[in-house]
Amino acid sequence: MVCDVSHPLVEFVLTRIAEDEAVARAVMGRGVHDNRPEVKEWIGLANPNRMLVWSGVRRRLVELHANGITTSDGDAACQQCGPPAPCMTLRLLSTLYGDHPDFQEQWRPLTTSPR
Ligand SMILES: [Zn+2]
Repeated sequence: MVCDVSHPLVEFVLTRIAEDEAVARAVMGRGVHDNRPEVKEWIGLANPNRMLVWSGVRRRLVELHANGITTSDGDAACQQCGPPAPCMTLRLLSTLYGDHPDFQEQWRPLTTSPR
């Protein structure tokens, strides 16, 4: 399996990141009318600016691991991690959206289950 920017897993993750960013930008500057401390704390954790920072980090990780190479054995490999492709980093990132209807179970890491 060749892993590059056109791989379905990469496209899936980048699309979800773009959706997260769109939601963050849509609610930027809007308030919440629930002043309970636990709600304010949650909103502080999930605020739009923080979501955009997280999205930028996720996007950069995808960029670092989306470039595939072919090994001397002919196997597809991540340029950063080696074989197999898609690498564990991309698989783990995809599980952030494991409940999305377009998520494919074969992308889930075989040795780690971060559910
Ligand atoms: Zn990698």
